[in-house]
Amino acid sequence: MSQTNIESIVIVGAGQAGASAILELRGNKYAGKIILVGDETHLPYERPPLSKEVILNPSDTKIEILSEQKLADLNVEVIRGNGVVKINSDAHSIELKNGDVVAYDKLLLATGGAARRLPNFDALGKHVYTLRNLEDSQALVPMLQAGRRIILIGGGVIGLELASSARFKDCAVTVIEMGSMVMGRCSPLILSEFLLEQHRAQGVDVRLETKIANCRLDGEEVVVTLASGEELRADAVVYGIGIVPNAQLAIDAGLEVDVAIKVNQDCQTSNSDIYAAGDVATQLRDCGHHRRVETWENANLQAGIFARHVMGVEHPKANPAWFWTDQLDINVQFVGDMAASEWHVRGEMDAAKGADNSFVMYGVTDGQIVAGITVNAGKEMRHLKKMISKNVVFEMEKHLDITQDLRKIA
Ligand SMILES: Cc1cc2nc3c(=O)[nH]c(=O)nc-3n(C[C@H](O)[C@H](O)[C@H](O)COP(=O)(O)OP(=O)(O)OC[C@H]3O[C@@H](n4cnc5c(N)ncnc54)[C@H](O)[C@@H]3O)c2cc1C
Repeated sequence: MSQTNIESIVIVGAGQAGASAILELRGNKYAGKIILVGDETHLPYERPPLSKEVILNPSDTKIEILSEQKLADLNVEVIRGNGVVKINSDAHSIELKNGDVVAYDKLLLATGGAARRLPNFDALGKHVYTLRNLEDSQALVPMLQAGRRIILIGGGVIGLELASSARFKDCAVTVIEMGSMVMGRCSPLILSEFLLEQHRAQGVDVRLETKIANCRLDGEEVVVTLASGEELRADAVVYGIGIVPNAQLAIDAGLEVDVAIKVNQDCQTSNSDIYAAGDVATQLRDCGHHRRVETWENANLQAGIFARHVMGVEHPKANPAWFWTDQLDINVQFVGDMAASEWHVRGEMDAAKGADNSFVMYGVTDGQIVAGITVNAGKEMRHLKKMISKNVVFEMEKHLDITQDLRKIA
């Protein structure tokens, strides 16, 4: 089928990738029908503020990506609160929870992921939380009150962002992390150690290499027993130990799935009329391996790849991957390959300066700049991106000299 006779595109999942796909399709002059199907009752909204602004500033934070008016202007049919339960790929149709059947020419699966569960904590039945959607975040607002004792399980991005929000609300915060470093999945050790020091300086009790033996309720308290035998008591536990991609629809439809839905470089699944994008997709990369990336930017990029591919438009050259986190008034942005073999700091990395720190880091592999990090220096990010794209060779004296304008040496 050529792009000219695609009559109907159905997008499953009204989240970041789903919303972006709509904008990209219309931006690429797709004039046919778009049907957006979401299991949530909300219109598409941004998730990054859920661990930050929505908790700290619930009444002033706007998270909607596409308003009702905008969706109407874009001529999108929206079905909400009625998730897809089945794909019938032979008939080119999907079945909704209420039994309705919707036909498609091209289908995008943008179903994201769900919080990975800890059944022994869930079994407690109260005072235990996870964070993935707006309701989860809203449930944390009244719980995070001054003086409350909060245990956060998982020292990843979500755990540390929540630790930061909870400290801003004067909670007593303990973070329990099994690994030997915080943000171990996405940060080099040097930055992880810097952030760890920041959290500890702000009173967060971060326990590394700490295993949990069991948990129980004692009245209104949650008692967490560590493998060491120590008992920690809290008013609430929030766990953030990663996500499980919402790939069941694809599994049931016989698509190739490897925990996440496998897609090629065009975001096409093993069925050429079905695409996947965002947290649910694991995409074939230039290195020849599939990789899943759980970031806001990746969801938008893959939605763009999908839209251009169905419209027969060439993709622009891929930029190095970028994401950010905000913790304790420190904005950290990451670009490129966080597994770079060496890291060099430009400026002063002084843990004692707290949120007044501002510096840049270069990740270098085989003499070349392959990654960059900015700490409270987001305006320098575009120069780091440029250096990575241009395969710039790292020159210690030049690149670490803070009197040199980064823009001029990029
Ligand atoms: C608390 C939090 C903070 C974050 N902070 C950052 C950050 O600072 N920086 C960053 O880069 N990234 C951040 N992220 C990650 C980023 O938000 C995600 O990578 C992005 O939302 C992924 O987009 P998506 O469209 O794949 O999934 P989602 O945005 O999760 O959307 C998926 C949608 O599909 C729906 N769905 C699932 N199954 C079905 C079905 N069967 N039928 C219909 N609908 C279905 C889901 O309910 C959901 O609405 C954060 C994520 C969270 C949760």
